[in-house]
Amino acid sequence: MTDLNKQGYVTNIQRYTIHDGPGIRTEVFLKGCPLNCKWCSNPECIRPAPEVGVYPDRCIGLDKCGFCLSACPAGEISALKTENNRVMAINRGSCTACLSCAKACPANALITWGKLYTVQEVVDAVLEDVPFYNKSGGGVTLSGGDPLIQWEFSLAILKECKEHGIHTCLETEHHISPGILNIVYPSVDLVITDIKHMDPQKHRVYTGVDNKLILHNIAETAKKEMPLVIRIPVIPGHNDSRENIEATARFIVGSLKNRVLQVQLLPYRQLGIEKYRSLGIPYGMEDFQPPEREIWEKNILSLAELLKTYGIPAVAGSSSRPSG
Ligand code: SF4
Ligand code: SF4
Repeated sequence: MTDLNKQGYVTNIQRYTIHDGPGIRTEVFLKGCPLNCKWCSNPECIRPAPEVGVYPDRCIGLDKCGFCLSACPAGEISALKTENNRVMAINRGSCTACLSCAKACPANALITWGKLYTVQEVVDAVLEDVPFYNKSGGGVTLSGGDPLIQWEFSLAILKECKEHGIHTCLETEHHISPGILNIVYPSVDLVITDIKHMDPQKHRVYTGVDNKLILHNIAETAKKEMPLVIRIPVIPGHNDSRENIEATARFIVGSLKNRVLQVQLLPYRQLGIEKYRSLGIPYGMEDFQPPEREIWEKNILSLAELLKTYGIPAVAGSSSRPSG
């Protein structure tokens, strides 16, 4: 029996998404990730615990409001940093993440990232769009972060969705114990995963972990013949050399026996900078100047062609969706 009262931290439930799995989908973003990629566009999903993001431009002024300061249990030595009559940031050293300030803020200048949901609440939200799934061949996608950081919560959602006949897709980084994958996979219809770099040292520099466990788990996933989509986020000057893409191709053809529905090469997009600032997390690509669109588009198309010479079903972008 699925425990529908089990709780987990969700940052967002997005309806009508079309890129992460087939058809029209409801995408559930969960908190927590074992990686810390330099280019991550969802920094609010990295840390496992809930936290407050600060948007000073929305603050209506401490003289008119100040509810957050009154709500903060840190009292006179408030964990809220103020300047020019506004809340500017959170002093994470003294903040206990009680979230009282965000609850008290009437202007959305303080946002809670990571709200507690029950399995039932998530599934109820997913069920609202069943007619769209039926018409488009869509379903639910668990994303993040990595949903397997909260794997028991994710498993319960996936199981309950399957009970309702909903197609399930899991986006995971695969930096997880193989035993957990064995437990979760029977409730998953499609797996989407990234290969960010084939060189373990460079992988560690860019993501905080090396790639051995990840590649092992991806190979096991292919061996189990799970429907699998691989994504390569193509980050200019980081992982877009022909040498790295050819090493990826050899891995896909050799270790995975080319058992992939699709390999998608995705362009780098400078997203999420505001969220990094709101969380007080330095953005690793702040000074990076992405090349002009026509240059990166050409590069991605040529890398997709390179993968195809190995017999790999590669596409530029995520819009050409495989069924699975
Ligand atoms: S989350 Fe709690 S402790 Fe942290 S700043 Fe807000 S009210 Fe203060
Ligand atoms: S509660 Fe919100 S709007 Fe009011 S002072 Fe604090 S941050 Fe500004």
